[in-house]
Amino acid sequence: METAPQKLEMFYEGKAKKLYATSDPDLVICYFKDDATAFNAKKRGTIEDKGVINNRMSELFFRLLEGQGVKTHFVRRLNEREMLCKRLEIIPVETVVRNIVAGSMAKRLGLEEGRELPSPVVEYYYKSDPLDDPLIYPEHAIMFGWASAGEIEAIRSLALNVNDILRRFLDERGIILVDFKLEFGRHHGEVLLGDEICPDTCRFWDKASRRKLDKDRFRRDLGDVEEAYQEMLRRVES
Ligand code: UDP
Repeated sequence: METAPQKLEMFYEGKAKKLYATSDPDLVICYFKDDATAFNAKKRGTIEDKGVINNRMSELFFRLLEGQGVKTHFVRRLNEREMLCKRLEIIPVETVVRNIVAGSMAKRLGLEEGRELPSPVVEYYYKSDPLDDPLIYPEHAIMFGWASAGEIEAIRSLALNVNDILRRFLDERGIILVDFKLEFGRHHGEVLLGDEICPDTCRFWDKASRRKLDKDRFRRDLGDVEEAYQEMLRRVES
């Protein structure tokens, strides 16, 4: 049994997670909360045991990705709600990969939700609460110094690779990966995948029924939110 570094002060509290420093300056402890927000925190609530499910599901996906050569911040899961991670200097760009039209893409372009894209689309958003995470061109990130050209290139290629791996894995479990959001950060000069991969950050549809098994149930008041999160965990654990 490996010994965990000592948990020190909380240095960041976000909408869904808290981050704690540890006795090892290279490592942080990520605590997953049950708080749920949508529309840049204009809608708030709690999803029972969401933190436990998202911690476990993120572990599973990070292990899957690491096994296929994708470098992530994941070190190991410590308990029900805590994960030990490498400390990242977060790149303030949210990367979204889409396989099927949904959410903001449907709204922005006046498209019907559910239309399959001929190939995956990668989008970049500037991570800024006061600005509601605006859609940007990758050139903006380079121009304003949020990421270097090399980092943007690495992010695009990592994001598409993650899409291929997750899509195949989920397809075998009867789930369509509609779209998802990734965050990346620097660790000793290297770009690593950070954050979490769970029903808060991905759209998952059941292949047979097209039933939504993700946070859209909370965003759109569709009901059975907890059940959908539990069902997704069962699918990925199978
Ligand atoms: N997403 C996220 N955090 C955000 C915005 C989006 O995790 O702040 C995820 C969302 O769950 C979906 C994908 O990114 O899987 C694309 O989201 P979209 O741009 O359609 O925005 P939404 O309509 O979900 O706000």
